[in-house]
Amino acid sequence: MNNKEKPENQIATVLGPGDFPICSLESRAAARLRLQKVGTPDCICFPELEIPFFGYPIQEQIAAAVKCPVHGDRFKPPFHLYVAEWRRKKAAIFMQYRSPEYKKAWVASFPPELWPAEEVEIDGKLMLRLKDGTMLDPYGDWKLSSNASMGSRP
Ligand SMILES: [Zn+2]
Repeated sequence: MNNKEKPENQIATVLGPGDFPICSLESRAAARLRLQKVGTPDCICFPELEIPFFGYPIQEQIAAAVKCPVHGDRFKPPFHLYVAEWRRKKAAIFMQYRSPEYKKAWVASFPPELWPAEEVEIDGKLMLRLKDGTMLDPYGDWKLSSNASMGSRP
């Protein structure tokens, strides 16, 4: 591989859709970013003064996997506390008061065609069902679950 020799690849520390399992959330997020990119890369960091709110630990993993084309990591990992159901439900309401930068950063990780997820109970266990039917364990390891459930799709 001689990608490094091409000048356009020197700024490309940004991961593209091909860097992730086919149809994975990361791949789709990366493809989306690539489409949105016109000319200069666009910052999709969470605003420094607005700590991202994640209802589930897996959301933090997903958001952390999406990198800003300008700055890389988009937020300092918040210390995850258990989030009560009422607080998670309020998150959608609070979202309307967030800054445009925050909303942009959020959508980069959680595209509206997939999120918000629906909470479903399977065998007594809480699971998240995305709008495309993908099931996620809210407290699981997202890398494992995304590879298992999405890696082999056509
Ligand atoms: Zn940024």
